[in-house]
Amino acid sequence: MTSVTFLDLRMTYLEISDELDAACRRVLDSGRYLLGPELAAFEADFAAYVQAAACVAVGSGYDALVLALRAIGIRPGDEVVVPANTYVATWLAVSAVGAVPIPVEPDESFGIDPSRIEDAITPRTRALLPVHLYGQPVDLDSIYGLAAQYGLRVVEDAAQAHGASYRGRRVGSSPDAVAWSFYPSKNLGAFGDGGAVTTNDERVADTVRVLRNYGSRVKDFNEERGVNSRLDELQAAMLRVKLRQLDEWNDRRHRIASFYRSECATIMDLRLPALLPATRHAWHLFVIRTMERDALRDHLYRCGIETSVHYPIPPYRQEAYSDLRIPAGAFRLTDQLHEQVLSLPMGPHMSLEDAARVTDALRSFSVGNSHNGP
Ligand SMILES: *Cc1c(COP(=O)(O)O)cnc(C)c1O
Repeated sequence: MTSVTFLDLRMTYLEISDELDAACRRVLDSGRYLLGPELAAFEADFAAYVQAAACVAVGSGYDALVLALRAIGIRPGDEVVVPANTYVATWLAVSAVGAVPIPVEPDESFGIDPSRIEDAITPRTRALLPVHLYGQPVDLDSIYGLAAQYGLRVVEDAAQAHGASYRGRRVGSSPDAVAWSFYPSKNLGAFGDGGAVTTNDERVADTVRVLRNYGSRVKDFNEERGVNSRLDELQAAMLRVKLRQLDEWNDRRHRIASFYRSECATIMDLRLPALLPATRHAWHLFVIRTMERDALRDHLYRCGIETSVHYPIPPYRQEAYSDLRIPAGAFRLTDQLHEQVLSLPMGPHMSLEDAARVTDALRSFSVGNSHNGP
């Protein structure tokens, strides 16, 4: 049986290999490999794409989060509100600056529930860190409303949301800081690690720019205890090529997602994350929810369909966070999602025939299973 891979990363090279090869040769031949013209050009291109005043590219999405938090002044002992249901990197970035992640349960979109944030705010809270999970923007009006009301700053984790928009504006042009990852499988992925901070606050941009290069603005003078986190020229040059594909590749994701959504609506026992109004989804992941996740995953595997789970263990239950002493079961909605979510194959190089193979297999499980029902 033909198999359907979860994401065909090799095709993200092959489709545009001539342009990528040319970009690499240009860099290799230039003799400039770090902090050169490709980086500056990519930063300008990406800032223009998200309509932000500035973009500072760094070594990874995690570094983008950490440096954004440092740039807005988060300090040891501060509290930062995070989603309980997210990738652990969101939490680890908060911990890296010595702050404490304060988790909030998800809503029907599976992203952070803005209506529960107020209960998590204490006198020590300094920032909100929402995640545009799976590629769907969170309700930014609510987030920034709360931030204004309580005097908090906001860092958005947009690692899964390249090209998504909220009220007709692309994610990335917010007042404080938006953190991006260019991990290879992301909608805009490098061929290695990469990340960026976009912002409309020139001071945030300036601080991240200094921090990413050992805290040095002028060679041999270190004004901050910075780090080494620079997006190299090769990755920047390739990301410039890939940025030109982003909208077209996101459109292809939309076609797969529309097909999945209409088919899944007719399959019993499947639930889908709610679509929020006024948002354009980037469809980084297509996630379904079912009580029989593990059995369904085995069935799809036997049908030659590769799936994934984002994520099997919530951050608050990770050993790395045992010192927070959050009792197991404290985040019931998050626990349920981690037991029930399944990510279907999704990507710009997937055909509608492949998507139909996936939904046929979902249907055959549903039918086979109903015989065992009560
Ligand atoms: C991928 C991802 C990150 C981390 O990005 P890296 O580039 O792998 O460091 C952070 N947050 C979320 C939500 C992600 O999906």
